[in-house]
Amino acid sequence: MADCIFCKIAQKEIPSSLVYEDEQVVAFKDLEPQAPVHVLVIPKKHVESVLALTAEDKAMVSHILVDVVPQLARELGVDEKGFRVVTNTGAEGGQSVKHLHFHLLGGRSMQWPPG
Ligand code: C5P
Repeated sequence: MADCIFCKIAQKEIPSSLVYEDEQVVAFKDLEPQAPVHVLVIPKKHVESVLALTAEDKAMVSHILVDVVPQLARELGVDEKGFRVVTNTGAEGGQSVKHLHFHLLGGRSMQWPPG
């Protein structure tokens, strides 16, 4: 999508600190980290949010949560103590970038409820 910053990151049109890439997915360090480990896992395909997912996206979402997130959690060293996966959705959900992304946060103790 032309004006989407995460599409541009996925297509390497703008730089990012990539930590993972395959045919469907990229993951990169968040520019404003909220924890010692804070990466964003995104599909290369433009999908606005979880509300825009369709049946054809099931394999992609499964791949992210079943394969990519656990692999990254191990590689980034947060699997043993634990981590948080967050997908903000819509204005009140705190979504500022309208391209589906999963925050992987770890390296510190998380609070509940989130702000
Ligand atoms: O969930 P939300 O949409 O608010 O998250 C967007 C995230 O994308 C923010 O944590 C922000 O720091 C990050 N970001 C980034 N690089 C950009 C633009 C936004 O890491 N170029």
